[in-house]
Amino acid sequence: MTKQEILKKYFGYSTFRKGQEELIDSIMQRKDTVGVMPTGAGKSICYQVPAVMLEGITLVISPLISLMKDQVGALNQAGIRAAYLNSSLTSGQFRKALQLAREGTYKIVYVAPERLESEDFLDFALHINVSMLCIDEAHCISQWGQDFRPSYLKIVHFIEKLPQKPVISAFTATATKTVREDMVRILKLQEYTLLVTGFDRSNLYFAVKKPKNKFGFVEKYVEDNWEKSGVIYCATRKNVEEVCYRLQAVGLPVTKYHAGLSDEERKLNQEDFIYDRKPIMVATNAFGMGIDKSNVRYVLHYNMPKNIESYYQEAGRAGRDGEAAECILLYGGQDVITNQFFIENNRDNGELDSETLELVKQQDRQRLKKMTFYCNTNGCLREYILNYFGEVSSNYCGNCSNCMTEFEEADVTEIAEIIVGCIKECGRSYGMNTIAQTLHGSSADIVKRYNLNENSCYGSLKNVSITHIRQVMNYLVLENVLYLSDNEYTVVKWNHEKVLRKPVIMKIATEKEQEDRRVKRKLQPEETEYDFQLFEFLRELRLEISKEAGAPPYIIFNDKTLKNLARSLPETKEQMLEVPGVGEVKFRRYGQRFLALIAEYKRR
Ligand code: ADP
Ligand code: ZN
Repeated sequence: MTKQEILKKYFGYSTFRKGQEELIDSIMQRKDTVGVMPTGAGKSICYQVPAVMLEGITLVISPLISLMKDQVGALNQAGIRAAYLNSSLTSGQFRKALQLAREGTYKIVYVAPERLESEDFLDFALHINVSMLCIDEAHCISQWGQDFRPSYLKIVHFIEKLPQKPVISAFTATATKTVREDMVRILKLQEYTLLVTGFDRSNLYFAVKKPKNKFGFVEKYVEDNWEKSGVIYCATRKNVEEVCYRLQAVGLPVTKYHAGLSDEERKLNQEDFIYDRKPIMVATNAFGMGIDKSNVRYVLHYNMPKNIESYYQEAGRAGRDGEAAECILLYGGQDVITNQFFIENNRDNGELDSETLELVKQQDRQRLKKMTFYCNTNGCLREYILNYFGEVSSNYCGNCSNCMTEFEEADVTEIAEIIVGCIKECGRSYGMNTIAQTLHGSSADIVKRYNLNENSCYGSLKNVSITHIRQVMNYLVLENVLYLSDNEYTVVKWNHEKVLRKPVIMKIATEKEQEDRRVKRKLQPEETEYDFQLFEFLRELRLEISKEAGAPPYIIFNDKTLKNLARSLPETKEQMLEVPGVGEVKFRRYGQRFLALIAEYKRR
């Protein structure tokens, strides 16, 4: 079979996505291959298609049990025999799986890195034909990555023990150059193919909001989107508990996940979410690594995360099926303080010496600063993220809250001058809020304590709201006229090297729009032009089948496929096979039931 035939037969797709073909071709030429693609871009197919074409067995190293289970489930549903070997198996199950694998039952075997050194696994690996060794989440091998896993270093020894070197393929969504170079070096790749596709996820809508009442915003948003699945990330367990409790109280189908729950409860809650029994998940960042639920329609951040890397990774769990999805960050000044606290009190790096530790902290502070800028920029949010990862892009995407908001240009020269004047005059540095209060003429304790009421600018901006003063200050920080220092307490300083270029024109969202920056994006025809009621019936049928098959609904067919069915209303096998996501194997298993439902629906 050709790669196209495999794509159609097992996965139900007719065309490859960007980068997939090149990566597959490279593997088929027996070249070591590294693919860096964003979450949801379709990395799995890049090694699964060649795995079917190659003669022997493909071993896939993967760090996460949940991810393996999902992938193996999806492969078996698609008609490709696969299994996993990890610590969730009893030793009996493990031996049985190995035996079946030895007999050639599986084309693809997922294995946890810790297993590579176990004796029975090694014995197995030495007696089979390993055609490819694929390393998923390959950035885990680098100490510079965010998720370094020492067990990944075992991969190298393992490869060296094999009688014949298999083709090595490695995949990750991590962008930075350092990590990529580390991967190549540690894995000792020589003549290899490296393909980095763009990081943009054009189906994701990005927004930053600053509601006074965060919970009120979340409640309304979730209610307005009640039929959809979504994730709400919070910074702390306490926030998770509270948000979850309050959403439950208004009768929404929500569950929760954080490190303080028992293993059992976490597992249960995760399954409730994956099976859409409770399609709304409130969680800390402990949740999500490797969860490939493709129909997540929104990711809300109740708190600002600590850096853009984490934000993009978490937000990227939305819309993995390629359908439109929304990523909304709720920003509040307190979030900066919470994150600063986390950075200063980070105990994860206990084994580092104090110098390195300080270096790590400095990096973390820098990252936090850039995250804060994201929340305060008036420019295109997508551009900001892509630039952060070193990609050039246009300054207008048309699908983020800033591109969708009408701004008024305001001349803030005078305010800017007064702010700079005030900061220059202060003998030492203060936080933004203190400066804003001084300018506004506040009688707050902190102003009196430091005699700031004696500053000649005290009260100069009496008629300007504190919020607006802060807005202008944030703007000056973005423009580099002011900067935030990296000390334990963030203080704002004047940049001696930068003169204030006049006039200072700043884009400000009109009052009304600030309150009402609701999602106004125009929907694409394929998102709206399908029969909604039929879609609901198809979903019900899918749920029924998913229970019978013991696999999550989105592994049976994803939402995009169901919407396509509800639009094209196929009557025959041939017509149904044309729908993206319907492969032959799945058609054989479930096709007739869907066709029957559609026919019945049409008759009514
Ligand atoms: P990644 O591992 O890169 O995050 P996945 O491999 O999980 O992404 O793929 C994300 C989604 O895209 C899956 O639902 C997958 O079926 C779908 N997909 C992958 N390749 C294609 C393709 N060529 N055409 C249509 N959909 C695809
Ligand atoms: Zn934009």
